[in-house]
Amino acid sequence: MKVDKLKLRQAVDSLYSIGPATQESYTRLVIECFRANDADQAKRLQSHMDAYSYRPADSFIHNRLLHLYAKSGQIPSARQLFDKMPHRDIFSWNAMLSLYAKSGCVDDLQGTFDRMPSRDSVSYNTVISGLAGRGCASKALSKRNIKYGEMAARKLFALDPLNAGPYILLSNMYASDGRWKDVAALRSLMKTNNVKKFAAYSWVDINNEVHKFVANDRIHVDSIAIYKELDDLIKKVQEVGYKPSTNLVLHDVGEQEKLESISYHSEKLALAFMLMKRPHESMPVRILKNLRVCGDCHAFMKFSSKVTGRTIVLRDSNRFHHFVGGKCSCNDHW
Ligand SMILES: [Zn+2]
Ligand SMILES: [Zn+2]
Repeated sequence: MKVDKLKLRQAVDSLYSIGPATQESYTRLVIECFRANDADQAKRLQSHMDAYSYRPADSFIHNRLLHLYAKSGQIPSARQLFDKMPHRDIFSWNAMLSLYAKSGCVDDLQGTFDRMPSRDSVSYNTVISGLAGRGCASKALSKRNIKYGEMAARKLFALDPLNAGPYILLSNMYASDGRWKDVAALRSLMKTNNVKKFAAYSWVDINNEVHKFVANDRIHVDSIAIYKELDDLIKKVQEVGYKPSTNLVLHDVGEQEKLESISYHSEKLALAFMLMKRPHESMPVRILKNLRVCGDCHAFMKFSSKVTGRTIVLRDSNRFHHFVGGKCSCNDHW
């Protein structure tokens, strides 16, 4: 999407001539800064809020600013904002992790990870990709760094056993340390667990624009609204009998973590996004996926077609699934 940076600057300029703004205007401008990837205007916006001692009602505005600073590698701005945030949640912590991971600040990455009150698969992924990236660039990972990578990877193997990403990242870390036996062991573990070499993702098309989702992904500009839409839908389908198949997740993680890891598969995020963007249409919801749909998502799509009254067409790597009124055209054989 092309966003006019000049217009954005003028909008921020006009705030300065008006005075304090409403939550709505700040939110709209923060989203525009994020879309335009314009950290300079974001900083001016933040200064404006600071000047009027404005405190946002929730963490949305600060998190967006934080993610923008993280994206553009602005460590001091991000750190200063993070330190004074009144409400920090998992998004805020993950933004700091991703900043340190991208900037190669391994010590800060580990320090932040240690201090987190709770972690999700995004946190584990960020830690391991930060460490693995460092390993490739400098061949300077310490034994302690590798231990962190192993710990994060093990969590991810348990939460999302079919995702190839952590296997490949850990294998890169071992390789950078010359641990070829461990590289080989990982490769055979991938075979045993039947892990495909590609990460699973789903995508949809709205107004000729493609939106791509991976499991647990919080990168999309609308991700907060998407997760809310999906959580609402999960509640509705549970009322009519859907039970999440947490048995598809390996055993050594807690029930809540199991539930979270299965709830946010890419096709579920894609569905929530489409329902949010196209709430009143009679057209089928079309979703594409590069790998085979999992059993839980298949059941979820059936229930969703029932509670929303919408036809859902899911094209996975094997076939088309047409979900109508709680049933699938494949009769559960796929
Ligand atoms: Zn699934
Ligand atoms: Zn089916």
